[in-house]
Amino acid sequence: MSANPMHSADIVESLGRAIGREHVLTEPAEREFHAMDVYNARELPLAVVRPGSIAELQAVVRLAAAAGVALVPRGGGASYTDGYLPATPNSLLVDTSRLNRIIEINTEDMYVTAEPGVTWHDLWQALKEKGVRASFWGPFSGIKATLGGSASQNSASLGSGNYGISADAILGFEIVLANGEILRTGSFAAANGKPFFRWYGPDLTGLFCGDAGALGIKASISLRLIKSPPYFGAASFGFETFEQMAAGMAAVARENVSADNFGLDPRLQQGQLGKANAKDAVAAALAVAKTARNPLEAAGKLVKMAAAGKRFLAGHNYSAHYTVEGVSRGEIKGKLAVLRAAMEPHGQETANTIPTVIRAMPFMPLYAVLGPKGERWVPMHGIMPFSKMNEFHAKLSRLYADNAARMQKLKVDKGGMFLAINTNAFLYEPVFYWEDDRTVFHNRFLPQEYLNLLPKYPANPDGRALVRELRGEIRKVFASVGAVHMQVGKTYPYMEGRQAEAARAIREIKKELDPAGIMNPGALQL
Ligand SMILES: Cc1cc2nc3c(=O)[nH]c(=O)nc-3n(C[C@H](O)[C@H](O)[C@H](O)COP(=O)(O)OP(=O)(O)OC[C@H]3O[C@@H](n4cnc5c(N)ncnc54)[C@H](O)[C@@H]3O)c2cc1C
Repeated sequence: MSANPMHSADIVESLGRAIGREHVLTEPAEREFHAMDVYNARELPLAVVRPGSIAELQAVVRLAAAAGVALVPRGGGASYTDGYLPATPNSLLVDTSRLNRIIEINTEDMYVTAEPGVTWHDLWQALKEKGVRASFWGPFSGIKATLGGSASQNSASLGSGNYGISADAILGFEIVLANGEILRTGSFAAANGKPFFRWYGPDLTGLFCGDAGALGIKASISLRLIKSPPYFGAASFGFETFEQMAAGMAAVARENVSADNFGLDPRLQQGQLGKANAKDAVAAALAVAKTARNPLEAAGKLVKMAAAGKRFLAGHNYSAHYTVEGVSRGEIKGKLAVLRAAMEPHGQETANTIPTVIRAMPFMPLYAVLGPKGERWVPMHGIMPFSKMNEFHAKLSRLYADNAARMQKLKVDKGGMFLAINTNAFLYEPVFYWEDDRTVFHNRFLPQEYLNLLPKYPANPDGRALVRELRGEIRKVFASVGAVHMQVGKTYPYMEGRQAEAARAIREIKKELDPAGIMNPGALQL
């Protein structure tokens, strides 16, 4: 990136004139917090800027381009792959929290258009009132995670069983390019077009899905709507081994009947239970009751949950959890029957407490940014075909076994979470926990009352270094089975080993859209 020696005080002054000085944060504490994710920190930006409209966002981009300053977008700050961490101090962090308007909910044409700083939680609430929902409707982090963040790094979870990932719900974008101009995609770019359909010639929308902000800044996002399914059902299964769970999850995925699903390994199962405190349990019970269609059904659900209590996964090492959706009780019954038949050879059905609670409170507070005992936490992930699940698991288990003594000595632990996406992909999420001191991020991201409940640990630089080393090794294991990644950021090797023509094409596109390289340098290894 070619830096222009314009003085940072001048930039701050110009930005202040464009968007209001109070929306240009230069205090070291603000710059430090906003430029740090749950796992890492890189360079401190010159300032954090908070444009309040798309026109202000364009003004910020034009000023940065003129000054040769990099722009690094930040949504909810809930990712952990250095995506919004500046690679150079000559950067402005663009915080989208004031770009939080839902522009249009169109229940005739079945799309919604919103600014990038709208959270998945707020979108869900606003749509619920109108009886509709986005087809993919958010990551579990949706209380903070934004549409812009998920669109720029792809997200899976709510709705991924049959609707895929965030990109599968997206109809079109408005992107602010490095020259400050707006580029529209999909039917929105057609003469007199509305953002109701993604496909009109080559898929420009797809170009910006998962670009980590390296190609431009999303100014609006349009998503496909469906009517909120009026009925849902839930089922959970326990397994002895990973292989049984994986085979069961793949078998169910192929049937295309589940709405949401996820699997847990022994460590994550314990974590889920260990984390439950009395206040959350009451909130969860109330929320579960609210999802029932009448008081009798509510009472039934709560009695079943209470009976299952905390023993519902006893005796099972691994578990998989499902919800199904439908327009009638009959559809739910039919889908659950198909699901159970697919799972029958692999696992044993158990109480469906976890998916029932998650359906009731899909966007829980993000307590998980620390482990259940206050440990540091960071996940990784890779997406692979079903045929590679066991090979990956065996290689990962070997890596952990080879490092077991070091991990134990340095107080590093690991777990795993799993998700089937549509009928054709398996997401494997290894998670690390280690005893270490908290950062500014944790202290500001989590409520003080919650932090007060957790133990604290002294700094553990050796444990931290081991986690870093193991993450590097796991990236190689993912690559060895041809896995791909959603949250690429500045962590996963997008360009490394990429087929030559594909690599050349993406470099040329970057050069065309962002010739001076001011858009999130380093993201996607560009
Ligand atoms: C407890 C917890 C649970 C989670 N659960 C899930 C889950 O279920 N599924 C899942 O997929 N992920 C999950 N995540 C990961 C993460 O929260 C999501 O992937 C989410 O999409 C991040 O959104 P964000 O708004 O916080 O993005 P950020 O972290 O702020 O940014 C992510 C990337 O997008 C870029 N970006 C942000 N806004 C824009 C914009 N307007 N234009 C261009 N680029 C932009 C940033 O530069 C960065 O590269 C979880 C995280 C936590 C902490």
